[in-house]
Amino acid sequence: MENKRLHIIKATLINVCRFLLAAVFIFSGFVKAVDPFGSTYKIQDYLEAFGISAWFPSFFPLLGAIALSTLEFALGVMLFFGIRKGTATLLTLFLICFMTPLTLYLAIADPVSDCGCFGDVWILTNWETFTKNIVLLLAAFVAFKWRYLIIRFISPKSEWLASLYSVIFILILSIYCLIHLPILDFRPYRVGVNIREDMSIPPDAKPGVYESIFILEKNGERKEFTLDDYPDSTWTFVDVRTALKEKGYEPPIRDFCMKSLETGDDITAEVLDDKNYTFLLIAHRIEGADDSNIDLINEIYDYSVERGYAFYCLTSSPEDEIEQWKDKTGAEYPFCLTDDMTLKTIVRANPGLALIKDGTILKKWSNNEFPDEYVLTDSLDKLRLGEERSTDLHKIGWTLLWFILPLSLILGLDLFLVKRSARLAKENQRLINPLIKNKMRKNIVAGNWKMNKTLREGIEFVKELKEILAEDKPNCEVLVCTPFIHLASVATILEVSAIGVGAENCADKASGAYTGEVSAAMVASTGAKYVILGHSERRAYYGETAGILKEKVKLALSNGLTPIFCIGEVLAEREANKQNEVVYTQLADSLFDLSVEDFSRIVLAYEPVWAIGTGRTATSLQAQEMHAYIRSVIADKYGKEAAENTSILYGGSCNPSNAKELFGNPDVDGGLIGGAALKAADFKGVIDGFKA
Ligand code: PEP
Repeated sequence: MENKRLHIIKATLINVCRFLLAAVFIFSGFVKAVDPFGSTYKIQDYLEAFGISAWFPSFFPLLGAIALSTLEFALGVMLFFGIRKGTATLLTLFLICFMTPLTLYLAIADPVSDCGCFGDVWILTNWETFTKNIVLLLAAFVAFKWRYLIIRFISPKSEWLASLYSVIFILILSIYCLIHLPILDFRPYRVGVNIREDMSIPPDAKPGVYESIFILEKNGERKEFTLDDYPDSTWTFVDVRTALKEKGYEPPIRDFCMKSLETGDDITAEVLDDKNYTFLLIAHRIEGADDSNIDLINEIYDYSVERGYAFYCLTSSPEDEIEQWKDKTGAEYPFCLTDDMTLKTIVRANPGLALIKDGTILKKWSNNEFPDEYVLTDSLDKLRLGEERSTDLHKIGWTLLWFILPLSLILGLDLFLVKRSARLAKENQRLINPLIKNKMRKNIVAGNWKMNKTLREGIEFVKELKEILAEDKPNCEVLVCTPFIHLASVATILEVSAIGVGAENCADKASGAYTGEVSAAMVASTGAKYVILGHSERRAYYGETAGILKEKVKLALSNGLTPIFCIGEVLAEREANKQNEVVYTQLADSLFDLSVEDFSRIVLAYEPVWAIGTGRTATSLQAQEMHAYIRSVIADKYGKEAAENTSILYGGSCNPSNAKELFGNPDVDGGLIGGAALKAADFKGVIDGFKA
């Protein structure tokens, strides 16, 4: 009970971590995709701050921005739906492990002012970013360590479709926002904003507090002082600077300034106070501006002259570059100088166009969508684009719809397919074997570790398996058969689980002077309930004969253990078509002395020796034929009921990819698994052979 509660708490915690990571990654991937140029500028800032921008080709920042947003978004979606839990949580952990020390460095050295994790939507200080990454690192570690407890919302069959759609969606969104402008604008210069108002400081706002820092020198030593601790006259004055002591109110727009190239005057107020329309052609670096629409730009300029609207080109480029542009394009419009960063913030295109009126931004265009003569058909006050509009809410709706609707369709289809295949599997089973409805015998998947795993490895394995199966209940009985030294510890760990424990052998003597042997009673005393007997490796390497095995079986039964009795032919016997004969003899010589009650406590495992550990599995038909034969032999000896109630497992290179087919046979009641039982994920794959 206590354990169950603990499990629920753990599973809840892990899933909370997974959803937290998913939400953060989906959000940060999305906001970066919406504004690819914004992320590009940020990456450029980083490269410059670290002095490594020359190492990379000029397209690298843009490529990096798109790759990063795609990776983050896809990881978020994978974590959200529980797709490829191992890969998704490992990649997440790697990503955050890389980011955390980097953001610590940013917080300490402060080479860039904000990290840009969430674009312009949510600007964090460098220390806030580092704190956020510490929380995410913890969550990523928890999610990775216990990834098996992550609940999945989509079947493995359809998960690739959901991941692929997410990648395609986010790539298309990035490209769309590159060609046009960001569909959502979180910057200070979004449509609807009045630049003049957003530049002004309200009269009651708290101003910033600044102080003078004096740099003084004495005996070759330089020190900084404020007015409060200004030293005596033995110090010589060197320099003074002003530093911000206390942050005051900062208006949303602080850096908008238009300086006329022609007159050198600051014409910001004049432009922002103009009650008429003004076109601002914005080319933060005119020498890098796309000149494919020169004619259209000139047409817009002619249109504005004709209609009496102002038109300026804003750039941060030097005069000679502006002159070159004029020569190349025949530009007659006036130029103004504005800060490079401000221009990049106003419009994410080079060049872009903005229409303002009375200081309010009415519309923005990228180079690829400038209005032409078919749009500018009349004076602006008679056109829709001359109206004041705020950011289009419907764009958010459309974007979400483009993501959510197809994804919901994929999920719906997935649900339908899962239900349908479960129904078909059930019907198939009934068709193959009408008795299955009343099948009394158990389906069992038993792992045989053989001589593998140290005690510590064994303990870690069963803990992991226990968690996996607690989250996703098996449709069959599950056993782990371990070397003797593991038994007591493993049995204690699995005491309150649905997983049974067995030994791989026991002595053919009850007790006494048999150095190195372990009796059935000793095995039972550890809490184990099963014991593998007659495995072909013990028959072949340790000379276990039918007579020895007969003793072992009796001792196991008398000590309350269930023997998993192995039978099977070697390759030469199969090739000579003697398999039935061999198997019959093995059964008869070791088991057919038992009473029907004792026999009913035996589990059989048919293991063709040529298939054990060889990777060569018996075909589904070979397995079914032999299992049906064994059942018929039991029916002859102990009656039909005993035969129907005996579980017969198949063993020999059974793995996650063939388990379903093998277990689908009416006479195959599970598997004895060697190699594929050594890793929890593989073993789970085999166990899932009993799932629809
Ligand atoms: C076994 O040893 O019982 C066995 C079936 O091994 P494997 O699955 O590796 O063939």
